[in-house]
Amino acid sequence: MKAWEKNIRKIAPYVPGEQPKVKDVIKLNTNENPYPPAPEALEANKKFDTDILRLYPDPDATILTEELAKFYGLDKENFFVGVGSDDVLSIAFQTFFNSDKPIMFPNITYSFYCVWADMYKIPYTCPKLDGDFKLVKEDYYAENGGVIFPNPNAPTAILEPLSTIEDILMHNQDVIVIVDEAYIDFGGESAIKLLDKYENLLVVQTFSKARSMAGMRIGYAIGGKRLIKAMNDVKFSINSYTMNQHSLLVGSKIIADREYFNETLKKIVNTRENAKKKLTELGFTFPDSKANFIFVTHEKYKAKDIFEYLKSKNIFVRYFNTPGIDNYLRITIGTDEQMEKLYEALEEYIK
Ligand SMILES: *Cc1c(COP(=O)(O)O)cnc(C)c1O
Repeated sequence: MKAWEKNIRKIAPYVPGEQPKVKDVIKLNTNENPYPPAPEALEANKKFDTDILRLYPDPDATILTEELAKFYGLDKENFFVGVGSDDVLSIAFQTFFNSDKPIMFPNITYSFYCVWADMYKIPYTCPKLDGDFKLVKEDYYAENGGVIFPNPNAPTAILEPLSTIEDILMHNQDVIVIVDEAYIDFGGESAIKLLDKYENLLVVQTFSKARSMAGMRIGYAIGGKRLIKAMNDVKFSINSYTMNQHSLLVGSKIIADREYFNETLKKIVNTRENAKKKLTELGFTFPDSKANFIFVTHEKYKAKDIFEYLKSKNIFVRYFNTPGIDNYLRITIGTDEQMEKLYEALEEYIK
């Protein structure tokens, strides 16, 4: 080993889902929304002058935080925006998890958490989910340096009721508790309701899933003004201009259209409920999903084999080669047409 090699950071990175380079695939592997974003955003996407390229964007992302504030009936100082919720969560880890005590998150969860913890040298422990992949709230009563979990959880799609979230908050008032609500709009009750009561709560959401804008990279945290200011202080210590002009302008146009938002959500939820029936008929079992994906396993067929077969048919789903979940597939809810093609392919395979 050369001397300089010793100074290179060694880290096992997060592995994102594949973005296939070929066309005409049915893409059910990264929980994108199969429907386009709100018409206002598409319209805004067409009109840009050259200043959008020439000028630095507003470092405070004001047009976006103002629109979010209007939507939620809060102040713009209650919002921190970033380049996808991955960026927001990464800043939150750096801002809030600075204890010598370990932070806690479930052993089966969004695999980026342990990558960030390693990256920022934050100690962590991962309490096991129970046999049904449910969170064991009592595990989080232990002393810790902070708590984070998604609700619904990923990749299980299981929603915990607000009472469980509140119980965890009640037992963790000396640390920051982050609830990652990437999938909350598909049928969950947001912890935003608890913000008034718990000043140590941070809720993180994204435009990538329910709002059909994964390509734009916009995420946000909602919290008390002191938490948001602390995150901004960290952000301005790394990069003032994280949100580009394009994201700010298009993103700010997407929030107001509640009607379109609800319509799209309804379509996805209908398709999901139908998928539960179809997949059950095909012999799959899964925890009940309140997200835009279903986490399935089959008694007779190996998940990895099904994954490979579907891929050969240009249908992409997600397979995790991770102990405990390596016989499961995470299937994103697509359009009805896409799902029909999936069922056809599965039927063929199972025959
Ligand atoms: C998709 C996802 C995110 C990140 O989404 P962004 O596209 O970065 O906003 C965060 N947490 C969970 C649990 C997710 O599934």
